[in-house]
Amino acid sequence: MTDPFSLGRRGLFGATAAGVLAAPFLMNRAAFAQADPKTDAAMSPAMKTNGFKIGTFAVTVISDGTRVSEKPQETYGTNQTPEAVAELLKANFLPTEKFVNGFSPTLVDTGSDVILFDTGMGEGGRKAGAGQLIAGMQAAGYSADQVTIVVLTHMHGDHIGGLMEGGQPAFKNARYVAGQAEFDFWKDPARAGTPAEGGHKGVLEKVVPFAEKTTFVGDGAEVAPGITGMAAFGHSPGHMIYRIESGGKALILTADTANHFVLSLQRPDWEVKFDMDKAAAAATRRKIFDMIATDRLPFVGYHMPFPSVGFIEKLDQGYRFVPETYQFEI
Ligand SMILES: [Zn+2]
Repeated sequence: MTDPFSLGRRGLFGATAAGVLAAPFLMNRAAFAQADPKTDAAMSPAMKTNGFKIGTFAVTVISDGTRVSEKPQETYGTNQTPEAVAELLKANFLPTEKFVNGFSPTLVDTGSDVILFDTGMGEGGRKAGAGQLIAGMQAAGYSADQVTIVVLTHMHGDHIGGLMEGGQPAFKNARYVAGQAEFDFWKDPARAGTPAEGGHKGVLEKVVPFAEKTTFVGDGAEVAPGITGMAAFGHSPGHMIYRIESGGKALILTADTANHFVLSLQRPDWEVKFDMDKAAAAATRRKIFDMIATDRLPFVGYHMPFPSVGFIEKLDQGYRFVPETYQFEI
């Protein structure tokens, strides 16, 4: 049988008996993967939000959207054989030719501050169905104007894309927090003419305008009472993660420490195309997820499948992602 993800519209409306029979079952997924961008926007997971409490803090994870990409083995396990990557995907009931990546910014309402961690793709991603953060926030009862602090875990496009909206600050009452090492790297004119040039330009356009309102931080920085930054370098030169603590409970926002719930967690040492320092990223993955597993903490992973919250079990070679179910409801 052919991979349902590869079935185009022609296949859906084909004249064969098999095509007709298969059509209702395949419609949603095939349409999701194949539709034109306008239709994608309508089908994007806008308004997907997940709210829960950590002590007295209200945490809301918001889906900014998802993206379907081809050939997972060209992004994950790039130092492995394509067969090894396919085998691990199959063992986890996942397709081998395409994968879905989600984007999940997180809002933490401490009672004194409304703190947004990362801003999604913004208007640049909207044609492809992403850029749904503000719509999702509104569905969860928050306006963009209520945000008092925007924290950038790092400065890749899917995290800083939502800082501006129509040439204006999207969160006009906010101050900003970002990693010093991250900013220094991307802002540096030495990035011109290197593979980081696109990111450099993005930071000049999206982040530099806010520099005067930004507190640049490093390992151990306190963003607000109960919210502490931790250096987690590797994915990018100054990638930071955050510990959220209230009323004796804790949650880790792991940002892009792991980018796929199977390929990056079950095989933390496999190289990932988007990890800029691959060895440092792998070492950081092990350090952070060892801690999360040992302390039995919940975490939000920016690219974990929505609702993007789970726990970690340590296995022989790596880790198992245990998605949250009702842990925060009772
Ligand atoms: Zn990312």
